[in-house]
Amino acid sequence: MAGPEIKAPAFREYPTIPVMQPGSMAGLKPFVANDKVQEALGFPTQLAENWQDTHDAVIAKMGELLGKYRSLKVYMDACVHCGACTDKCHYFIGTQDPKNMPVARQDLMRSVYRRYFTPAGKLFPALVGARDLTREVLDEWYTYYHQCSECRRCSVFCPYGIDTAEVTMAGRELLASVGYGQKYSNEIIGKVHKIGNNLGLPGPALENTLEGLMEDVKEDTGIDIQYPLDVQGAEVLLVTPSADFFAEPHIESLIGYGKVFHAAGISWTMSSKASEAGNFGMFIGNYDQLRKIAMRVREAALELGVKRIVVGECGHAWRVAYSFWNTLTGVGAGASDPFAIQLQSQLDHRYKQPSHICEFTWDLIQRGAISFDKEANDHRIITFHDSCNVARGSRMGDAPGGQFEIPRSIIHAVANKYVEMRPGTTHEQTFCCGGGGGVLTDDLMELRVKGALPRMETIKQVVDGQGVNFLATICAICKAQFSKVLPFYGFKSSMIGGVHQLVSTAIRLGDK
Ligand code: SF4
Ligand code: SF4
Repeated sequence: MAGPEIKAPAFREYPTIPVMQPGSMAGLKPFVANDKVQEALGFPTQLAENWQDTHDAVIAKMGELLGKYRSLKVYMDACVHCGACTDKCHYFIGTQDPKNMPVARQDLMRSVYRRYFTPAGKLFPALVGARDLTREVLDEWYTYYHQCSECRRCSVFCPYGIDTAEVTMAGRELLASVGYGQKYSNEIIGKVHKIGNNLGLPGPALENTLEGLMEDVKEDTGIDIQYPLDVQGAEVLLVTPSADFFAEPHIESLIGYGKVFHAAGISWTMSSKASEAGNFGMFIGNYDQLRKIAMRVREAALELGVKRIVVGECGHAWRVAYSFWNTLTGVGAGASDPFAIQLQSQLDHRYKQPSHICEFTWDLIQRGAISFDKEANDHRIITFHDSCNVARGSRMGDAPGGQFEIPRSIIHAVANKYVEMRPGTTHEQTFCCGGGGGVLTDDLMELRVKGALPRMETIKQVVDGQGVNFLATICAICKAQFSKVLPFYGFKSSMIGGVHQLVSTAIRLGDK
């Protein structure tokens, strides 16, 4: 539970395989969604009173998911228990609970799959590690499928490409569908449906916030930089995580986006309808929620008549935008319903639709449309944390690895002092911040602190060795998580910031 009694694990001298502490995290589960939260998403409000009814509902849903997601069926069958993934999960490394090994996390579901969906498991359960679905098993799922940040690091090391994140998503979808949803994620999804963003910030409050921001930036720079909302006919719609509107350090990046648009002379707007880039529908593995949230972006784009859609600094939002918006909403060229086709004809396809704000800024830099005083960042020695969903779930630019190179290229364009963290912990092998995938809640603070250990170890190396004092990232969740957990490891929370915070510091502002 949250509080000062949580102690960060000690830094390890060498990154060895942790000694196991069975059951060490068995008691940590996030708050369960109440009736109101479940009802708002159309899920059953609680588990059926009769266990047999719940049991049957879970098995039926599992059958449905196995039929719908071929990947899930393959993952259930393909694992050979080679062990390559076991020590690759930051939660296993930080908590030492063997059920946080990726293969063990999969086996929580695989054992039930074998019992009900394979001939051998039906006939000789004990021989093939099959087990009955019991209330205890369901509770175990709830516990350990909420101790996974769906970061996909383990899948990079699996010779069969088994993606534990997909198993976690299926586990969560099953749980929510029988009335056992997670309060944190489901409550946030409800706020997006009702108000438009994760924070429940209504349109007028957002307008006030942006007006205040314009005044602050004017005071700071002497220049009228706009942070526009709901501007009809703007060239660009920026969809950004709602944390950017007021959380620290997120707002510093929002200030930076505004400066980029100003310096390049490109008209832009944000939207009170699509005031959230995040999409927790992915975290709970639910396609309908994912789509419903994403549709707000399409509606806003159609209403405002924009030509381009740009996504702000948010890891999972970019994964959803990059990988799913095309078929979900028609941003891109996948969906084929009339509104999707209307949107595709409205958008300017000389540009990637959607674009990441880093692609947008990097393009302007390459074309010489914006310029910088790099020395303005000389008080900073910077390192870059690759965020999981950007690194392993998306791309940027036109070349493989663009999602790694473009943010780094921007940093090199705006600052002089840059240090890379240890190989094997960056790029596609990056460690999760410990707070992604729907675990960024205070009721899971112990998990978040412990799961941050491997990333903190690599930060310590560059802080001690090269004097790094700024940890740049392009994810709202990483920023929030690091702000909270850095002090547990003896670092200042102020060392975390966005790439566009660095851009903001160094950009030359004309009077366009
Ligand atoms: S997806 Fe990430 S958090 Fe989940 S088991 Fe794999 S490494 Fe651990
Ligand atoms: S690396 Fe893949 S095959 Fe090996 S134990 Fe892990 S999930 Fe199974």
